[in-house]
Amino acid sequence: MTSVADNLDSVRHRIDAACLAAGRVPSQVSLLPVSKTHPASAVLDAVAAGYTRFGENRVQEAMGKWQELHEGHPEIEWVIIGHLQTNKARDVARFATEVSSLDSVKLARDLARRLDREGRQIDVLIEVNSSGEPQKSGVAPSEAPALARELAGMDTLRVKGLMTVAVNSPDRARVAACFQTMQDLQQRLRQEAPATSSWDELSMGMSGDFEQAIAHGATVVRVGTAIFGARYYS
Ligand SMILES: *Cc1c(COP(=O)(O)O)cnc(C)c1O
Repeated sequence: MTSVADNLDSVRHRIDAACLAAGRVPSQVSLLPVSKTHPASAVLDAVAAGYTRFGENRVQEAMGKWQELHEGHPEIEWVIIGHLQTNKARDVARFATEVSSLDSVKLARDLARRLDREGRQIDVLIEVNSSGEPQKSGVAPSEAPALARELAGMDTLRVKGLMTVAVNSPDRARVAACFQTMQDLQQRLRQEAPATSSWDELSMGMSGDFEQAIAHGATVVRVGTAIFGARYYS
């Protein structure tokens, strides 16, 4: 079995190669290891390899790892990438550095209010449903500008860009269409949306499609399986 450190190395090399193939600078694309379902010890393997930001899709699980690790490793930052119920806003406000899956005004308001009380700010990305699949979370591309306008007034949320999960399909053209939708939306927001927000971050691409995402302008790829191995749900 290969180690987490070896896997991180090989994924990073693939990212660099995809950047060069796309005429992009490798330092423009960061790797967010996704540690969901894997224990704190796996996170520490990645910390030893130099990574300090981790993606988690469940608040409860992320908070457990934060509680376990934050004293010994205050440098670790937690990024929430999964759909958030508004009743989790208080927990998120306590420990998360970023929410990449912001998808409603209600969630934004709850988060902003809780952050205010904690005296904290966090980075947020608007999650967009780029495939149109009904089971996917995220706002429709056409709804993103309106959400962006609402967020502009919330000081505790620093808007950095957009996030998506593309369709899971062997048909590369369908996957590419999702990423293209995101690039087009990013362009549109840069022109239309309030200057208080930045649209530079494009979080897209997972173990199966990150090279394609990089060809379409991804600045963050979220990779779980290719780093930590298969996930087992109990
Ligand atoms: C689990 C997950 C990932 C990582 O998926 P892999 O296919 O294991 O790389 C990325 N993004 C989100 C939103 C996820 O939930």
